[in-house]
Amino acid sequence: MNCKEVQRQLVPYINGELQEKAEEEFVRHVRHCPDCYEELEVYATVFAGIRQLDGAEEKIDYRTLVEDTLENSEEDAKDERFFALYSFLLKTAATASLFYMIVRLFF
Ligand SMILES: [Zn+2]
Repeated sequence: MNCKEVQRQLVPYINGELQEKAEEEFVRHVRHCPDCYEELEVYATVFAGIRQLDGAEEKIDYRTLVEDTLENSEEDAKDERFFALYSFLLKTAATASLFYMIVRLFF
C-alpha cells in the first residue's frame, strides 16, 4: 500500500470498515510512514470529536488516540493468527487420531 492508497483508506479505517488484510497493510504502512501517521492523527482526532458531539459516552484520550487505535488493530491481527494456528493444530490432531483408530481397526 502506498501513501495515496493509505490516505484514501483513512476514513474507512477509522470507521472499522476495512477488510482484515487491508487493515493489516494499512497499519503496517502507517507505522513506518510519518506523513501518513500524522494524517491519521488528524482524522482520528476529528472523528473522535464528532463522535463526542454526537453524545458518545466514551472517554477519549487525545494524546494516545492514534496509538490506541493502531494497537487495537495489531492485537486483532495477532488474535487471528493465533486462532488460525490453533485450528490447524486441532485439525491435525483430529486427523492423526482418526488415522490411529482406522489402523487399530484393520490391523
Ligand atoms: Zn505514507
